[in-house]
Order: sequence, then C-alpha cells, then structure tokens
Amino acid sequence: MSDIQTRFDALKASKLRLRNTSADERAEKLQTLWDATLARKEDIFKAGAEERGCHKLDIAAELMMLKGEIDFAIKHVGKWMKPEKVKNSMSTMGKRCEIRRQSKGVVLNMAAYNAPTAESFVPMIASIAAGNAMAIKPSELAPISAQIIQEIINGAFSPDEADVFQGGVDVAQELLALPFDHIYYTGGTAVGKIVMKAAADNLASVTLEMGGKNPVIIDETAKLENAATKLAWGRVMNAGQVCIAPDYAIVHDSVKEEFQTLIAAKINELYNSDGAGLEQSAYVPRMINDRHTQRVKALIDDAIKKGAKVICGGSANIKDNYIEPTILTDVTEDMEIMQEEVFGPVLCVVGYKNREEVLDLIAPRTNSLAFYVYSTNDDNIEYFLKNTSSGSAVVNNNCVQSGTNPRLPFGGIGNSGQGRIGGYEGFKTMSNERSVVHQPLDRFRDFLIQLPPYSERYNNIIMKALK
Ligand code: NAD
Repeated sequence: MSDIQTRFDALKASKLRLRNTSADERAEKLQTLWDATLARKEDIFKAGAEERGCHKLDIAAELMMLKGEIDFAIKHVGKWMKPEKVKNSMSTMGKRCEIRRQSKGVVLNMAAYNAPTAESFVPMIASIAAGNAMAIKPSELAPISAQIIQEIINGAFSPDEADVFQGGVDVAQELLALPFDHIYYTGGTAVGKIVMKAAADNLASVTLEMGGKNPVIIDETAKLENAATKLAWGRVMNAGQVCIAPDYAIVHDSVKEEFQTLIAAKINELYNSDGAGLEQSAYVPRMINDRHTQRVKALIDDAIKKGAKVICGGSANIKDNYIEPTILTDVTEDMEIMQEEVFGPVLCVVGYKNREEVLDLIAPRTNSLAFYVYSTNDDNIEYFLKNTSSGSAVVNNNCVQSGTNPRLPFGGIGNSGQGRIGGYEGFKTMSNERSVVHQPLDRFRDFLIQLPPYSERYNNIIMKALK
C-alpha cells in the first residue's frame, strides 16, 4: 500500500470522530491553526520574498485574510452547526422539518502557488468549522511556503485530522484517484478540468477556484486619476499573479489617451518614488519562475509584433524573473494576450465608442472571476452589472472583494470556477445539507391517507391542491 493511501486511510478513519466534535472543539482547532501560523509569520514573510520578491506587508495582507476568516468562523461556528428549522408546506403539515449541516468527511485541498498560505488555509478554516478531515496539496512551484505549511500542520494537528502532501503532478494525480468526499481546487482552468473528471470517478463534490481574464470598464464619466491609481496597484500587486487582478481595460475612446498617460505616471509614482528604477523597487514583485516569466514576455512580444503599442514597460529580465510593469494599448483579438489569462503585471487597453460594444468585447471571455467598472453614471453601472456575469464585481475599485469580508462569498462561474468559500458559505461548501423530517406519532399528526386503495377523501384533497 502506498504511503499516500495509508495517510488517506488515517484521515478517513477520523471522519465520524471529527463530525461529532462540538463547536468549542472546532473553535479551539481554528485558534490553534491561527496561533501556529502566526508563530511562523517571519518565515512566511521570508518565503514570499524569496519565491516572488514580495514585500513583507503584501504577505501580511494574506495573513490578515486568514485572521479575518478564522475570527469570524470562531465567533459563528456554534450558530452554523445548529440544525436550521424550516417552515412546513401543506404536504409536511404536522411534521417537524429541519436542515442539518454535517461534515462531508475527508476533503482534498489542491492549491496554486500565488498566495500559498491563504490558498492552503482559507479552505481549511471552512473544513475545520464543518468538522472535516483535510489533505492539503500545496503547489510545488512555491516549495519554501509548502514546507512551512507542512510544518505548521504537522505541529498543530494529528495526521488523522490534517495532513500535507508535498509534490508535483504525480502526487496530485495519486491524490485525485482516491475517494475524497470533496475536492477543493485552486489553479488554472486546464487542470480544473482534470480535477473535475477525476472527481467524477468517485462522485466527489468539487469547488473549483480558477482564473480567467477579468475585464475593467472605464466609461467617459469615470474619475480617471482615481481609477488609474487603483488599477496600477491592482495590476502590479504580486506581479499580476492574482486571480482577481484586472486583466484588460475597456476604456471609452474619449478618455482612453488620458487614462493611459495617467496609469503610466501612477505606476512610476507608486513603484519608483525614489527614482532608482522599477526593477530596483522593493514593491515590484517577481514572477514565480523563468517559465512563467518567459510566458508573459512572449505574450507582450506577440502583441507588439501584431500592432499593440507600448504605453510603458515592455521589458523583462528573465534571469531575475522580472517583468517590467507594462501597459499595452490598441490590443486586438488576434493577439495571444487576449486569448489567455496574463497572470503577470501587464494591463491591456482596448477602446470603445458605445456601451453595447463593451458587451461584444467581453463576450469571448465571459464568466470571469472578477469584473470591475469605473464610472460615476449609475445607469451605466447598472447596465454593465446587469448584462455581464462574473464571480464577483467591484464598482470604482479593484481587488477588494476577496478575503476582506467573510460575509461576501467568493468564487467563480463557468470557466472561472464553481462553488463558494468564505464565512458561512465556506462552511456550507464543506457540509452536506441533510434534510431531516421528524414525524410525530400521535394520532392527529401521524396518518397515511395516501395509501391505496385511494379514498374519495384523498382524491378530493389532491384535486383541490392541484387547482
Ligand atoms: P496550476 O493549475 O498549474 O496548479 C494548481 C495545482 O494543480 C497545483 O497544486 C499543481 O500541483 C496541480 N496540478 C498541476 N498540473 C496538474 C495535473 N496535470 N494533474 C493534477 N494536478 C495538477 O495553477 P497555478 O499556475 O499554480 O496557479 C495559477 C492559476 O490559479 C491562475 O489561473 C489563477 O487565476 C488561479 N487562481 C485562482 C484563485 C481563485 O481563488 N479563483 C486563486 C489563486 C489562483
């Protein structure tokens, strides 16, 4: 028997024990997770700096997300666990109906590389709150973080409650072949399809947290300098390796030139305030590896070759995994950069004349994870919100909807994913919603009129109900 199978069996053996833990016990486990994570905060900061050149405060924001989720779950887990009484219908009159949210059992969490601690632990918070055992497969592209995650979990939990499986595609595939009760996946769409197919073999439920091309609309009424500032930050943060990062901007022709000038200036103002150059900035992170650096550089070069204009940036230092923050304009559909998620610090700009045209521009990339609109015209804002779909949307800001408020469920739609995480929705994702009907046994409420041979009374009741 393989090591992975043995460790999976240990998790499975705790299924009922963990399901029957009290709210206090779960709250204690959540607190333990936070304490163990906080104790390694300096190592987590260092890992973020070594793996992606991130500033300590950017990684601290990832930990803030965890703290917010943990505090919220500790406060509410008792309430979430209580059976929810529901009203009766005509057909359940006299009975007692309730929903019980029970743990699914053993959950597999497969994470991406771009926010390794949050991607490993946010689903785990929901999983603990719901009383599950969890296997975490961190990304092999962030190995320093993966090792810290392993040490945190091994130190804080017994291996039959939570276990970490480090490794690459081979480990992921061995895990996917096991009969987990739920698979929570964060990563690209291509692998998401592999995960969903594997889940089908065991009929496991899935949550898919994927990415895509997130549009930003800037209409003719937008506060341009405000938009440019927020978008410069939203696109350069984590070197663009953020699932909800703005990917391409659709800007009204009347303000396009001014917006482009402003965002180029803002990138310089925010990330080159000492004039030493963007590449030297402590705030401009790095791509995760040379493969991804080359991938993003190739997207820039292909776009330029096919006629895109460089407003700022465009260069790279492959050896240092550095992509210069870049704004490309007059980008067209035949360019590869419009076909795939950039996941790098490059914002593409496309112009538009009327709002109907915006819908046509978005149509080939519908169902994004995030959607942003910058406007001061309520009618335009509503038009864009009503005629597009995405996992989340923000008006006059970006990247503020994930991990910031546990009351806002997070997730995608279609190509960008399915299922929700965060707060109560995360708890529900990790739970089986079991409908329970209690039949009182007194003679007034416990009767079976629906048995054959059918009576005239039964016939009359049904015919009346159908009217
Ligand atoms: P990825 O798909 O390459 O890898 C994700 C996980 O899948 C890793 O653990 C990896 O080991 C595993 N994996 C890779 N190939 C596999 C295969 N053939 N079979 C089985 N498992 C395999 O993703 P990535 O490059 O690490 O992350 C970037 C993507 O993640 C982007 O698309 C981004 O938008 C998305 N993302 C989404 C969210 C969200 O919450 N929606 C958050 C972060 C990242």
